[in-house]
Amino acid sequence: MKRIILLSIAALSLLPIHAQTNNIAIQHVEPTNWWVGMHNPNLQLLVHAQGIANTRPEIDYAGVSIASTTLTDNPNYVFINLRIAADAKPGKFDIRFVKDGEQKATYTYELKAREQGSANRQSFNSEDAIYLLMPDRFANGNPNNDDMPGMVEKADRKADYGRHGGDLQGVAEHVDYIKNLGMTALWMTPVLENNMPQSSYHGYAITDYYAVDARLGSLEEYIQLSNKLHQNGMKLIMDMVFNHCGTNHWWMNDLPCKDWIFQWNGNPMRSSYRLSTVADSHRSQYDLRQATEGWFDSSMADMNLGNELVKNYFIQNSIWWIETVGLDGIRQDTYPYPEKNAMREWNLRVREEYPNFNIVGEAWISEASKLAYWQKDAHNNDGYNSELPTIMDFPLLEAIYRAFNEQPSWDDGIIRLYNSLANDYLYADPMHIMVFGENHDAGRLLTKLNGNVQSLKMATAFLATVRGIAQWYVGTEVLMEGDAVQHAFIRRDFAGGWAGDKNDNFNNRKGAQADMYDYTARLFNYRKTSDALRHGDLLHFLPNNEVYVYFRYTATDCVMVVMNNSSTDQTLDTPRYAEMLSHYTTGTDIITNQKIDLSNITIKGKTAMVIELK
Ligand code: CA
Repeated sequence: MKRIILLSIAALSLLPIHAQTNNIAIQHVEPTNWWVGMHNPNLQLLVHAQGIANTRPEIDYAGVSIASTTLTDNPNYVFINLRIAADAKPGKFDIRFVKDGEQKATYTYELKAREQGSANRQSFNSEDAIYLLMPDRFANGNPNNDDMPGMVEKADRKADYGRHGGDLQGVAEHVDYIKNLGMTALWMTPVLENNMPQSSYHGYAITDYYAVDARLGSLEEYIQLSNKLHQNGMKLIMDMVFNHCGTNHWWMNDLPCKDWIFQWNGNPMRSSYRLSTVADSHRSQYDLRQATEGWFDSSMADMNLGNELVKNYFIQNSIWWIETVGLDGIRQDTYPYPEKNAMREWNLRVREEYPNFNIVGEAWISEASKLAYWQKDAHNNDGYNSELPTIMDFPLLEAIYRAFNEQPSWDDGIIRLYNSLANDYLYADPMHIMVFGENHDAGRLLTKLNGNVQSLKMATAFLATVRGIAQWYVGTEVLMEGDAVQHAFIRRDFAGGWAGDKNDNFNNRKGAQADMYDYTARLFNYRKTSDALRHGDLLHFLPNNEVYVYFRYTATDCVMVVMNNSSTDQTLDTPRYAEMLSHYTTGTDIITNQKIDLSNITIKGKTAMVIELK
């Protein structure tokens, strides 16, 4: 006891004695907390308070020191560069802001202990099938949070672009639905605060990077959803947006520095959305600047990731969410728009903390040659290596639309799928490409396929069996339709998610909807068990008479996929496939469970067969 008192006195004697007025109110400190035991000992703290730049921060906490401070052209900010020693202990300490011997403000900061095994968490990969949903439009688990104090936009389920009241609790209540469909991971469109006057339901105009939108739920509910997914053997992928923030973000009233965003002298130019400018060796600076520094939307201010402070802000923000919620992956919005070297450093620094961590970037580019530029380890002439592990297969998306709609000819029809996959030589890692038939921005697949459910089923079989990481968009399993001409049409509410809904597609599917759900579930649940589909190489044969045959195989497993895109039954010329088929004696169609005679394979028109070979 005596010894502790002595130590306390010793510690106290080191403290400078300041008169305390504490007359400066701290408005923001971000990150809102941090952890001990991180790989990177450095932490950049943003501190926002009136005139705070005229004070000097002081900290007395074992293992934590102020390496430097960075001031900007705005006296209401100081960036404190902390150094956290490897042996620092979790706990709270005061940051005191001092001027002329007087303590003007104090802020209690916390360093937490990390979850055990946090750094070595696994991530998503080609084993996974990812379910994408928009939480405002999936299920309303808690009608009490539809309208929340302080949130500008009120719920209005009748408004196409309004808030409909769906939330994290609604998602958590239907994890079993997603799991039973055969999905292994969940990607929700952004869940962070979007306190915008209108169209705030989609989540891409973030107004607070450290807050879950109160209408979707609390941080605690987000963590609970993560835990529930993990208990069900599933993964959580967070949608992040570094390129732009909502113009109602708190910092827009008092920017940390003039070049925190691209201001365009108060009259922002719109982005041209021409992403080829980033890699094009012939591009003009004008076009590059418009594409990457122009605003994505007038309600979305363009962040300047070329500013070290902004870059560090976002890198730390992403790590904060990984550590806080227990994320298994990140989807990054509008990937090629922010400064590309900052994005490269982001990937490296995330993997420095979490070596297995996977990130998928939305590079919406429909030519393989241009898309390939954005994947880690691409052989780019300019020497750029994005370090981004996973890209999205937009070229294959276009091919899917065309394959099932076109009148067949030399280059039209099902050969679109073959030709798209034949471009894989351009990619550094084809197994780290996310494949999809639709998302919340592209039109719904069934609508793109002119409402043809047979085509949709074939596309589903393709998505469940082709190489890469599979992604599925909410509602297609129950035949939801909608055209991307209006975003609202592809983001309609999931029937059964709201009390009083006429139909309940969670619990009471009927007819064609039940059939499509079962078809999808059968394929994706099989995928979960098949090493060939999760990890196998791809070998495909040129389509013949609109019949496309490919194999996914490992040393021990093989799956044969046959797609007949013609309207008539066809019998395969099996000797043509001998280089694969000769190794096997029996086949089972995993959709019908029927045994297949491998010497005589007949397939009905407009159907797919997925055959497990033994
Ligand atoms: Ca709600």
